[in-house]
Amino acid sequence: MSDIRPQPGILDIALYQGGKAHVAGVSNIVKLSSNENPFGPSDKAREAFSRAVHNLHRYPNTDHASLRQAIGEVHGLDPARIICGVGSDEVITFLCQAYAGPGDEVIYTEHGFLMYRISALAVGATPVEVAERDRVVDVDAILAACSPFTKLVFLANPANPTGTMISLAELERLAKGLPRQAMLVIDGAYAEFVEGYDGGAELATRLPNAFMTRTFSKIYGLGGLRIGWGYGAQAVIDVLNRIRGPFNLSAAQQEAAEAAVRDRGFVDHCRSENARLRVWLAEALAEMGVQSDVSMANFVLARFASAEEATACDEFLQSQGLIVRQVSSYKLPHCLRITVGDEAACRRVAHAIGQFKGAR
Ligand SMILES: *Cc1c(COP(=O)(O)O)cnc(C)c1O
Repeated sequence: MSDIRPQPGILDIALYQGGKAHVAGVSNIVKLSSNENPFGPSDKAREAFSRAVHNLHRYPNTDHASLRQAIGEVHGLDPARIICGVGSDEVITFLCQAYAGPGDEVIYTEHGFLMYRISALAVGATPVEVAERDRVVDVDAILAACSPFTKLVFLANPANPTGTMISLAELERLAKGLPRQAMLVIDGAYAEFVEGYDGGAELATRLPNAFMTRTFSKIYGLGGLRIGWGYGAQAVIDVLNRIRGPFNLSAAQQEAAEAAVRDRGFVDHCRSENARLRVWLAEALAEMGVQSDVSMANFVLARFASAEEATACDEFLQSQGLIVRQVSSYKLPHCLRITVGDEAACRRVAHAIGQFKGAR
């Protein structure tokens, strides 16, 4: 018997379930469940990672100066206002640790990314979920949910798992309408997939209460290496750096990320291939009677007639070696999120869904 207890909120956290990678007894698996880049990372990033093996005995630098400089040059941002983390997940964690605690409210939306709720509960804050309108973030509903206790508002734009996005004008209206003590965090994990969209960088430059997070896990194909970054007001960055572990990123992470961010040709190639195959996949599914919202990201959220049909389709796809994502934990039990893979993967998944629909 003991009285050892975790802090309030922590036992309310449901364990995050990653995308499945295996099906028992099925080989030749195609994994379309975690929005990974089907082309992997840039060769330049692979080479930088390989070179890092020669210095594994050395501690990494603590300020990420060279990586921040590269990100700043590529995005036209002041490197002093950038913080790097172990995935953008760690930046989200820093924001909650620094700005929310017991009695504070952290807002996220109905189908929003699960890490916002988890990070809020982990610091003892109160998670506040706001309804969306037909799978699109509703700025007025968020503003109506704000209170004197609201400290953080998280939304991904484009959003996961819906793939929808709102305009920069709507984001600005949201930031400007928040109570004075609240900060808007624009999660740009999928921003690179949207031609001509800055992920909220200009807003985070201009507005003191807008913050942007970005990741190397999606278009850069480096999910396994765990690198993300945040950008916002200098005062906020200075706060976050106080709680960041000095050696949070290894040299290998920093060097691979720097090589990746500088390889713009690879990013452009991945963006255009994704756009082309995303349209193809969505149209192929629509022809079979499976609808989806226009996705701005590297996945399609396929809607089925019922949760039962979505589950049956998922099981059939698994039997065919195709792993997609059930999103019932995102309040979308009748949907399956399908990552846009390479051309062969898109054809395979469309063909299998056609077989499934044809047999019903
Ligand atoms: C994948 C994803 C991330 C990225 O998380 P990392 O920790 O950088 O790998 C962040 N936000 C959303 C909405 C995502 O889907």
